[in-house]
Amino acid sequence: MHHVHGRFAPTPSGPLHAGSLVAAVASYLDARSQQGRWSLRIEDVDPPRCPPGSVDTILRQLETFGLAWDGEVRYQSHRHDAYARALARLTEQGMAYTCSCSRKQWRDYGIYPGWCRDGVCQPEAPQAWRLRSDLGQRPVIWHDRLQGLQRFDPAALGDVVLKRKDGLWAYQLAVVVDDIDQNITDVVRGADLLDNTPWQLQLLEALGAEPPRYLHLPLVIGQDGQKLSKQNLARPLPEDPRDVRRLLHATLALLGQSPDPAASEAPVAEQLEAACRRWRPRQIPRADIASQGLQVDGD
Ligand code: GLU
Repeated sequence: MHHVHGRFAPTPSGPLHAGSLVAAVASYLDARSQQGRWSLRIEDVDPPRCPPGSVDTILRQLETFGLAWDGEVRYQSHRHDAYARALARLTEQGMAYTCSCSRKQWRDYGIYPGWCRDGVCQPEAPQAWRLRSDLGQRPVIWHDRLQGLQRFDPAALGDVVLKRKDGLWAYQLAVVVDDIDQNITDVVRGADLLDNTPWQLQLLEALGAEPPRYLHLPLVIGQDGQKLSKQNLARPLPEDPRDVRRLLHATLALLGQSPDPAASEAPVAEQLEAACRRWRPRQIPRADIASQGLQVDGD
């Protein structure tokens, strides 16, 4: 039986904000509405970017919003061996190679031209690992559940980094190895990751795995016209129960799910249950959404 398994995979670079809540709520509802599992994976492959305390805050925020995950929380920082095995497998198949080139050297080409594919240019210099993308020349195609048919030319993708020169695992490798290992069937995440998906599909194929289904959500845009992020100081989520209920309601409305207007202050469990029953992913708007609808406090 093909059981649905969704996940929420935040990078703990700070607390969740209204934009990350959209991805958490949508992936949760998508899995739960199909009686599926929903897992939480902390993407802490880059420790310097993850201030201490962020993980605890994220767990608490999810609990506050009634978003209960299944099983243990998975941490990418504990997954070194699995990533190393995947890299070894790709290397054995001639799909991964070491690369000493610096961005400065190839910047004018737009994408990395693959100079180290047949032998590393500067054996003494620090080396990253890259995936060979020149072996299959077919376009990378998938049908996104919300954004429709997507098609990328491999020649425009370049050879994605799997392990960085500083020894840290790259997001692309970690996310794919974990999605495979956890048997994730449905990836529901922000459209900022849409153009990462072709690399992930190349990697899935290189690792001999079936790709999951993808649904890329609209981005939440702040008043400055930029995607809400920790960088532009998006406010952390509220903690006051009344604000929490109203923000959840506003999030469901922005996701096009037409929550009952009378339920804007209903307990989160009740709101989520109702939203689960009537989850219609096709009603999610495709275009970016303004964060104004999510300003629930201070009025
Ligand atoms: N860790 C990524 C982020 O927080 C999301 C990864 C994913 O959903 O694939 O942006």
